[in-house]
Amino acid sequence: MKNIRFNRIFTDPGLGLFQQDIRTYNAEDFKVWETLFKKQSKKLPTVAAQEYIDGFKSLRLSEEKIVNLKEVSYRLGMNTGWRVQVVPGRISDSLFFSLLQAKKFPVTSWLRRLDELDYPTAPDLFHDAFGHLPLLMNESFSQFLQGLATITERYRDNPLALELLERVYWYTVEFGLIREKNGLRVYGAGILSSSGEMYYSLSDEPKHCTYEVEAVLNTPFWKNKFQDRYFIVNSFDELRASLPLIEEKVDEILQKAE
Ligand code: FE
Repeated sequence: MKNIRFNRIFTDPGLGLFQQDIRTYNAEDFKVWETLFKKQSKKLPTVAAQEYIDGFKSLRLSEEKIVNLKEVSYRLGMNTGWRVQVVPGRISDSLFFSLLQAKKFPVTSWLRRLDELDYPTAPDLFHDAFGHLPLLMNESFSQFLQGLATITERYRDNPLALELLERVYWYTVEFGLIREKNGLRVYGAGILSSSGEMYYSLSDEPKHCTYEVEAVLNTPFWKNKFQDRYFIVNSFDELRASLPLIEEKVDEILQKAE
């Protein structure tokens, strides 16, 4: 799909025109949605963070029909002020973070094919909607996301800073774990939308590290295979409260690099 590279959403007259057209989904798409939904949702009670589960229920996602982004955006908006912005596939990092800053979560409307159920080539509708949207209903988490986007915008022309901030995004929003009273749970969308990584991430195989800003900033990650470590927060308030330290530590690393 076309990779658009606008510098800022606000100067882009075209993005608002992208809509999800439910009528264009075919039988295979419905099968993909239903199969993934069944497979992942049955694991949620023992794997997912309570805040994610609460959001999941409020958004009323269902296996029978492919998520209607207009409906879900409305529910999200009523509760949180966040909206869904439909995007045509991958978008530039810069556009991505300016959308988040404006409390718009980019969601692509295409779905993976049946023969790539567990390994889609790129984040698709299932990853974006099932993985990300429920937790946006949580205020502390969504404020963290918006705050992280604001910091990222500040460094938009600095590749080193962007690499560091991408690690924060990766180890929290995509692959974060949380310690709850019932034990370790998943809140990262990359894990929640992946069948194998849900159990693996909570098993004894990978390293489980305490969420510390400096450690996260200094830990590179890889795509296309399971992570060898995960960072654990105790609450989403803790995550939100770490924003000033993230900014401070990034500044520090940049100064040392000069
Ligand atoms: Fe994602």
